[in-house]
Amino acid sequence: MPEGDTLFKVAARLTPALQGHVLTRFEAPRLRGHRPALGERIALVEARGKHLLIHFERGLVLRTHLRMTGSWHVYRERQRWQKPAYLARAVVGADSGWLGVCFQAPVVETYHRAGAEPDVLASLGPDLCLAESLHDDVIDAVVQRIPRLAPTGTTVGEALLDQRIAAGIGNVYKSEACFAVGIDPGTPIDRVDDRTRRAVWTVAARQLQANLDGPERRTHPTGLAVYGRRGQPCRACGKPIRMARHGDQARSSYWCPACQPMPT
Ligand SMILES: [Zn+2]
Repeated sequence: MPEGDTLFKVAARLTPALQGHVLTRFEAPRLRGHRPALGERIALVEARGKHLLIHFERGLVLRTHLRMTGSWHVYRERQRWQKPAYLARAVVGADSGWLGVCFQAPVVETYHRAGAEPDVLASLGPDLCLAESLHDDVIDAVVQRIPRLAPTGTTVGEALLDQRIAAGIGNVYKSEACFAVGIDPGTPIDRVDDRTRRAVWTVAARQLQANLDGPERRTHPTGLAVYGRRGQPCRACGKPIRMARHGDQARSSYWCPACQPMPT
């Protein structure tokens, strides 16, 4: 599942292939917005939270969001793609001989850098994939956003997924960070003190940053602690891991009821 670490790795692979090179091919059958011109230079490739941005030198910025289904691949110009072409939502080719191909992303749009940034980017909280997000003042800023953005009744799990509080966490790190801190993801955020709030977002940032390279996500020497492990024994106490789906998008949470009790 694409979370902040996935996008960080995508940007790291696309950057040498595209950045600083001249645009030679651009296809985006469902693009919202203007198209960059062939012949202009690709100025910058960056990940912002779970968004991938490709800046073109004349001012357009291509934004993709992968949600649950999308992926970016990098190919040589004539290389065979691993997914069928009809699933491609953006093809960005450069005179480096490389192509970035984005498959199945539900969001593919351009905006102009000179204008207002799309709300979804402007409202993003601090990016937890950046090392600086572990500085005290950045974690303070994250915690200070919670009362404004998480109304009464919001659970810790929902607040962790809110990209306006901090950017980068998806279902995997939501579950893993709650386990690491020993808190039930269904706990109302109102019942969590500032010290615990700091701890849970700090752990999530550490976990994301520990997974910015390497093929497999790990928060534990053998892999993930709870995510995807429904019914399997907790790595700490041996009791079975539980899973529940919450919210209108049926977001899954995994937790150990023994190690992560609901506060009384
Ligand atoms: Zn346990």
